[in-house]
Amino acid sequence: MTEISSLCVYCGSRIPKDPSHIDAAKSLGKDLAENGIRLVYGGGHVGLMGVIADSTIDSGGQVTGIIPGHLHDIEVSHEKLTELHIVDSMHARKEMMYQTSDAFVVLPGGLGTLDETFEMVTWRQLGLHDKPIILVNYKNYWRPLLDLMDHMIKAGFVEKEALGYFTVVEELKDIIPALAKAPDAEIKADISKF
Ligand code: AMP
Repeated sequence: MTEISSLCVYCGSRIPKDPSHIDAAKSLGKDLAENGIRLVYGGGHVGLMGVIADSTIDSGGQVTGIIPGHLHDIEVSHEKLTELHIVDSMHARKEMMYQTSDAFVVLPGGLGTLDETFEMVTWRQLGLHDKPIILVNYKNYWRPLLDLMDHMIKAGFVEKEALGYFTVVEELKDIIPALAKAPDAEIKADISKF
């Protein structure tokens, strides 16, 4: 079973139309704080990213933000984090988010969230890491993506096993138990070879 002390959350940098997604991000932030799990995220104070960071901090939790210098103003670096790393590039940000996290959770988000998520999923496909990835299909937000996966598998472009690269949960309360149930990550990835 995985002992998670540091969790990377990928989520949208915008405020979505459905306010229940905001409540979801707040709720996860509180859960992380209460379970003593450090939040690792993109370091901004915008959208759901800002909401989960605020909620974790307000609940007494630890938050590490990692932001590239050029996004410092656009995503408005959060000023109250436990630690904020300003890095040189998007790649450096993703690498540090990967290195400092035991697992990944994906809340609803946009293109950046998809990019970050599928980098972790494709690294798993290549056997470069085996850290748990939890896709939170809250309010069925990711259904079209899951349908696309099925479509790609049926078409023969993706192996059936790909569905095992990540765990889908429907409810926020299922995230922490899903992380606890995940097998320990065994691959000691050397990211310099990626
Ligand atoms: P979004 O899901 O588009 O709202 O973005 C969520 C986060 O992903 C933000 O912090 C973005 O800076 C980040 N992001 C956007 N585009 C990319 C990209 N191509 N690679 C990695 N991260 C990105």
